[in-house]
Amino acid sequence: MHLLRQPEHKIHEFSKALLEARTKVGQCKSCFHLSEADECEICRNPQRIKDLICVVADSRDLIALERTREFKGHYHVLGGLISPMDGIGPEMLQIPSLIKRVDQTSTKEVILALTPSVEGDTTSLYLARLLKPFTSVTRIAYGLPVGSELEYADDVTLTRALEGRQKME
Ligand SMILES: [Zn+2]
Repeated sequence: MHLLRQPEHKIHEFSKALLEARTKVGQCKSCFHLSEADECEICRNPQRIKDLICVVADSRDLIALERTREFKGHYHVLGGLISPMDGIGPEMLQIPSLIKRVDQTSTKEVILALTPSVEGDTTSLYLARLLKPFTSVTRIAYGLPVGSELEYADDVTLTRALEGRQKME
Protein backbone atom coordinates (compact mmCIF):
# COMPACT_ATOMS: atom_id res chain seq x y z
CA MET A 1 0.00 0.00 0.00
CA HIS A 2 2.83 2.35 0.91
CA LEU A 3 4.50 1.64 -2.46
CA LEU A 4 1.32 2.23 -4.43
CA ARG A 5 1.00 5.71 -2.98
CA GLN A 6 4.47 6.75 -4.17
CA PRO A 7 4.98 8.88 -7.31
CA GLU A 8 5.58 6.87 -10.47
CA HIS A 9 9.25 7.82 -10.89
CA LYS A 10 9.98 6.55 -7.36
CA ILE A 11 8.45 3.18 -8.19
CA HIS A 12 10.55 3.07 -11.37
CA GLU A 13 13.70 3.68 -9.33
CA PHE A 14 12.70 1.11 -6.77
CA SER A 15 11.97 -1.60 -9.33
CA LYS A 16 15.25 -0.86 -11.10
CA ALA A 17 17.16 -1.27 -7.85
CA LEU A 18 15.26 -4.46 -7.11
CA LEU A 19 16.04 -5.90 -10.55
CA GLU A 20 19.68 -4.94 -10.19
CA ALA A 21 19.92 -6.69 -6.85
CA ARG A 22 18.21 -9.73 -8.32
CA THR A 23 20.75 -10.02 -11.15
CA LYS A 24 23.83 -9.12 -9.10
CA VAL A 25 23.25 -11.20 -6.00
CA GLY A 26 23.87 -14.88 -6.40
CA GLN A 27 24.93 -17.63 -4.07
CA CYS A 28 28.31 -18.38 -2.55
CA LYS A 29 29.62 -21.55 -4.15
CA SER A 30 30.85 -22.90 -0.79
CA CYS A 31 28.23 -22.02 1.82
CA PHE A 32 25.25 -20.87 -0.35
CA HIS A 33 24.86 -17.58 1.51
CA LEU A 34 23.80 -14.60 -0.64
CA SER A 35 26.85 -13.19 -2.37
CA GLU A 36 27.74 -10.86 -5.24
CA ALA A 37 31.05 -12.68 -5.71
CA ASP A 38 31.78 -16.33 -6.42
CA GLU A 39 32.54 -16.82 -2.75
CA CYS A 40 31.02 -14.75 0.06
CA GLU A 41 32.99 -12.53 2.46
CA ILE A 42 32.76 -15.04 5.30
CA CYS A 43 34.19 -17.89 3.23
CA ARG A 44 37.00 -15.65 1.95
CA ASN A 45 37.93 -14.40 5.43
CA PRO A 46 41.12 -16.17 6.59
CA GLN A 47 40.36 -15.24 10.23
CA ARG A 48 37.35 -17.54 10.37
CA ILE A 49 37.77 -21.00 11.89
CA LYS A 50 37.88 -23.40 8.97
CA ASP A 51 36.92 -26.64 10.72
CA LEU A 52 33.75 -25.36 12.38
CA ILE A 53 30.55 -25.18 10.33
CA CYS A 54 27.23 -23.79 11.54
CA VAL A 55 24.24 -25.06 9.57
CA VAL A 56 21.30 -22.66 9.10
CA ALA A 57 18.05 -22.85 7.13
CA ASP A 58 18.53 -19.60 5.24
CA SER A 59 20.60 -16.44 4.87
CA ARG A 60 18.38 -14.48 7.27
CA ASP A 61 19.37 -16.85 10.09
CA LEU A 62 23.03 -16.49 9.14
CA ILE A 63 22.73 -12.70 9.33
CA ALA A 64 21.05 -12.97 12.75
CA LEU A 65 23.92 -15.13 14.06
CA GLU A 66 26.54 -12.82 12.55
CA ARG A 67 24.93 -9.93 14.39
CA THR A 68 25.96 -11.52 17.71
CA ARG A 69 29.67 -11.41 16.64
CA GLU A 70 30.16 -14.52 18.77
CA PHE A 71 30.52 -17.13 16.10
CA LYS A 72 33.89 -17.25 14.32
CA GLY A 73 33.45 -20.32 12.16
CA HIS A 74 31.93 -20.91 8.76
CA TYR A 75 28.33 -21.48 7.72
CA HIS A 76 26.30 -23.69 5.43
CA VAL A 77 22.93 -22.41 4.23
CA LEU A 78 20.45 -25.21 3.51
CA GLY A 79 17.91 -23.10 1.65
CA GLY A 80 15.01 -24.39 3.76
CA LEU A 81 14.02 -27.30 5.99
CA ILE A 82 12.89 -30.84 5.25
CA SER A 83 9.09 -30.79 5.11
CA PRO A 84 7.30 -33.87 3.77
CA MET A 85 3.98 -32.00 4.10
CA ASP A 86 5.17 -29.39 1.60
CA GLY A 87 6.96 -31.94 -0.55
CA ILE A 88 10.43 -30.67 0.39
CA GLY A 89 12.88 -33.54 0.56
CA PRO A 90 16.59 -33.52 1.54
CA GLU A 91 17.71 -33.59 -2.10
CA MET A 92 15.97 -30.23 -2.71
CA LEU A 93 18.12 -28.55 -0.08
CA GLN A 94 21.88 -27.97 0.18
CA ILE A 95 22.28 -31.23 2.10
CA PRO A 96 24.30 -33.28 -0.43
CA SER A 97 26.71 -30.32 -0.74
CA LEU A 98 27.04 -30.17 3.07
CA ILE A 99 27.88 -33.86 3.36
CA LYS A 100 30.42 -33.48 0.56
CA ARG A 101 31.94 -30.41 2.19
CA VAL A 102 32.27 -32.07 5.60
CA ASP A 103 33.66 -35.23 4.02
CA GLN A 104 36.23 -33.44 1.88
CA THR A 105 37.49 -30.99 4.52
CA SER A 106 38.64 -31.87 8.02
CA THR A 107 35.60 -30.39 9.76
CA LYS A 108 35.86 -30.95 13.52
CA GLU A 109 32.37 -29.84 14.47
CA VAL A 110 29.05 -29.11 12.79
CA ILE A 111 26.63 -26.97 14.80
CA LEU A 112 23.00 -27.35 13.80
CA ALA A 113 21.24 -24.01 14.29
CA LEU A 114 17.76 -24.75 13.00
CA THR A 115 14.47 -23.33 14.24
CA PRO A 116 12.90 -25.49 16.98
CA SER A 117 9.88 -26.74 15.01
CA VAL A 118 8.74 -30.06 13.56
CA GLU A 119 10.60 -29.28 10.30
CA GLY A 120 13.69 -28.03 12.16
CA ASP A 121 13.81 -31.13 14.37
CA THR A 122 13.28 -33.49 11.43
CA THR A 123 16.11 -31.80 9.53
CA SER A 124 18.44 -31.80 12.57
CA LEU A 125 17.91 -35.51 13.25
CA TYR A 126 18.36 -36.36 9.58
CA LEU A 127 21.60 -34.35 9.35
CA ALA A 128 22.98 -35.72 12.63
CA ARG A 129 22.56 -39.28 11.39
CA LEU A 130 24.31 -38.50 8.08
CA LEU A 131 27.12 -36.41 9.53
CA LYS A 132 28.11 -38.46 12.59
CA PRO A 133 30.46 -40.80 10.69
CA PHE A 134 32.47 -37.74 9.59
CA THR A 135 32.46 -35.27 12.46
CA SER A 136 31.12 -34.21 15.85
CA VAL A 137 27.55 -32.89 15.59
CA THR A 138 26.11 -30.43 18.10
CA ARG A 139 22.86 -28.57 18.27
CA ILE A 140 22.23 -25.09 19.67
CA ALA A 141 20.52 -25.05 23.08
CA TYR A 142 16.85 -24.32 23.46
CA GLY A 143 17.18 -20.89 24.97
CA LEU A 144 15.05 -20.20 21.91
CA PRO A 145 11.31 -20.19 22.45
CA VAL A 146 9.78 -23.26 20.78
CA GLY A 147 8.26 -22.48 17.40
CA SER A 148 9.99 -19.11 17.15
CA GLU A 149 12.03 -18.01 14.17
CA LEU A 150 15.77 -17.87 14.68
CA GLU A 151 16.08 -14.58 12.83
CA TYR A 152 13.89 -12.74 15.34
CA ALA A 153 15.75 -13.94 18.43
CA ASP A 154 17.67 -11.25 20.29
CA ASP A 155 21.47 -11.33 20.34
CA VAL A 156 21.79 -12.47 23.95
CA THR A 157 19.42 -15.41 23.41
CA LEU A 158 21.27 -16.40 20.24
CA THR A 159 24.67 -16.14 21.93
CA ARG A 160 23.50 -18.32 24.85
CA ALA A 161 21.96 -20.79 22.44
CA LEU A 162 25.30 -21.13 20.64
CA GLU A 163 27.32 -21.39 23.87
CA GLY A 164 25.00 -23.99 25.34
CA ARG A 165 25.02 -26.25 22.31
CA GLN A 166 24.80 -29.96 23.01
CA LYS A 167 26.20 -33.04 21.36
CA MET A 168 23.60 -34.94 19.37
CA GLU A 169 23.29 -38.57 20.43
ZN1 LIG B 1 30.27 -18.50 1.62
